[in-house]
Amino acid sequence: MEIYLDANATTPVLPQARQAALFAMADAFGNPSSVHGSGMRARVLLDEARATARRVLGAASGQLLFTSGATEGIQTAVLSAMKHLRQRRNAGEAIPGCVLYGATEHKAVPEALNHWNNLLGLGLQVLAIPVGRDGRHDLEWLRAHVGEAGLVCTMAANNETGVISDLDGIAGIMKGSGALWLVDSVQALGKVELHLRERGIDYAPFSGHKLYAPKGVGMLYVREGAPFTPLLAGGGQESALRSGTENMAGIAALGAVLKELETGTAFASAQALHGYRAMLAQALREAFPGVVFNAPFEISLPTTLNVSVPGLSANTLLNLLDAGGIRASGGSACGASKAMPSYVLQAMGLPEWQTASAVRLSFGAAERLEMVSEACRRFRACGDALRESCRSPLPATQPMATEPITRFVFDGACCYVAADAAARECVIIDPQPELAGQLAQWLRCRGCMVKAVLDTHGHASSSPIPREAIGNLIKGKSLGWPQAAEEIRVGAYRLTRVAAPGPMGSSAIYLMHDAKGPRAAFTGNVPAQAASGSSGDGKASASSKALEEAIGRDTLLLPSHDENDRFATTLAIERAPQGLPERVEVNQADISQWLGGSVLPILVDVREAYEERMSPLAATWPAAASGAALELVPLSVLVNRLPKWRALADDVRIVFCCRAGNRSAQAARTLRRLGHAQSYSLAGGLTLLSAAEGVPSRPRVVAA
Ligand code: PLP
Repeated sequence: MEIYLDANATTPVLPQARQAALFAMADAFGNPSSVHGSGMRARVLLDEARATARRVLGAASGQLLFTSGATEGIQTAVLSAMKHLRQRRNAGEAIPGCVLYGATEHKAVPEALNHWNNLLGLGLQVLAIPVGRDGRHDLEWLRAHVGEAGLVCTMAANNETGVISDLDGIAGIMKGSGALWLVDSVQALGKVELHLRERGIDYAPFSGHKLYAPKGVGMLYVREGAPFTPLLAGGGQESALRSGTENMAGIAALGAVLKELETGTAFASAQALHGYRAMLAQALREAFPGVVFNAPFEISLPTTLNVSVPGLSANTLLNLLDAGGIRASGGSACGASKAMPSYVLQAMGLPEWQTASAVRLSFGAAERLEMVSEACRRFRACGDALRESCRSPLPATQPMATEPITRFVFDGACCYVAADAAARECVIIDPQPELAGQLAQWLRCRGCMVKAVLDTHGHASSSPIPREAIGNLIKGKSLGWPQAAEEIRVGAYRLTRVAAPGPMGSSAIYLMHDAKGPRAAFTGNVPAQAASGSSGDGKASASSKALEEAIGRDTLLLPSHDENDRFATTLAIERAPQGLPERVEVNQADISQWLGGSVLPILVDVREAYEERMSPLAATWPAAASGAALELVPLSVLVNRLPKWRALADDVRIVFCCRAGNRSAQAARTLRRLGHAQSYSLAGGLTLLSAAEGVPSRPRVVAA
């Protein structure tokens, strides 16, 4: 069972709405503008839906037109208000100099304001109304500026945080101001009373798909007497306010949802919704100690929880939840390696870590207790998975395996732990202060002592990781390179230091050696090309020749910054001309075919251990049954396997997979660049695989 906690993005279509849409398509399929029987049957549906909407919204007067969604409603309202301002200006009147919008508004609002402002040549200032720490508009600021405003846009409830605006407070300020008022009501419908008429709201757009109707249908309320300009002109439908043949299936479905809101039993009571939120919040607190709720519950929709967990990036938490079958979304847009902080949380002035790691959990008002109970159970299971993978402040019950090199990434910056599992010793290279908690968990969980904290940028012992964080896990007094030491021994490994060439005078490269020779070089932020000394024509300078002797042409170079997800390289690769990155994606059909071939591919799951715990690859991917080798090699320790995979025979295909295909593509591209051409990534990741049939298994064909 999938636990869908992304209702603020969209909702499934209510069965009653589906039925109504089918009826509109199959039985009342006529054009509501036709005057014959078929058309009239459709007209009845249309009129009924509008009448229900008027009752539910308390909008007996004014216009209520059906649109394609809220974005269209917003455009229509903004165009109407701005066209009115232009008319006044053209008539010689002095018009206000600005339009205002809440700083946490959905992007559709400021984008529409700027678009129509430019298109109509108005030259108005488009100003954001600041919000307080609680996410609510700064009413004093609004009071001070409303006199200069031609239009004020304040959403009813925020889509990221669920914060409900103080519409009564705003209404008090708007009264008599002369400014028009647009209230984006998308997230509030069905959850908050809007009192459109009483509050004197001029425009209120709605979207069907946020409330169990299909995508592509919405509504716009326009107060009686408020200026109006149609966005679409044509056949005169919707009383010529919005031309174009009506989306009857969508309108009928939306009508059915509104009917349910009015008299049905599909939606839970406000009390039940508050109870569900309390259950979810408690489960989150237990599963993720230290979890922070980014908006005050007292003034938020009970259906939206915006959370940040210390030490867990939004991507990490989303990957984990997804593996647990919980669909949620980032409170911020997450790039491959750099998290884009949420502008909503930034506007609220929340600390950077909260804005960058926020995850939104939102459920629909038609959810039932069973779903909520199951979600709570899975949160707890996710918490256990983190704990057993040393990613929780709570102690693991079983010892965790330790690879020689583990990579930690924060905002594109990479930190490495070079460890010997048997000796329980390690060295930390280039830690970020933000990783302190995570590193401390990692060390404590494995009982691993720190012999040194090294910095490739040359700041000898100025470790950005606070001593308190790892306290009694530090061996010796100094955190930096031990004075006068030639090398640091970490169990069976040795670490040596090489001065790095280039502009960073005091930079150092650290080399990790095993019994066979150099295993990896931590190159810091010395660009790989500079480290290689390549002049572009493949020739290396004298100093880089010395470096090559120390490092070796084929040793893996691991950088301290990896914004481009290159992961690892070698001097030899850096000196060779580099082409454009190749496509590495393959689909299930390709893999099925290879599974029937004479040389079976190797399938590698690069998800982290806590994800695999929640959804084991063998269960997701029936290819396991075919006898193909399945390996779990999390991206954080991938570097340890690269030498083995580079040595594979040319005809052995290696297919990486992960949740959505991003991390596996990184792994495949890295291995390809390092010389193994038959490296691939499962397009779309396991998410699509499990949604489909899975890869058909084939009998094992023994390799010749
Ligand atoms: N306003 C808010 C608050 C929203 O959440 C959304 C959708 O995410 C929109 C506007 C845009 O709605 P639609 O997708 O119907 O155009």
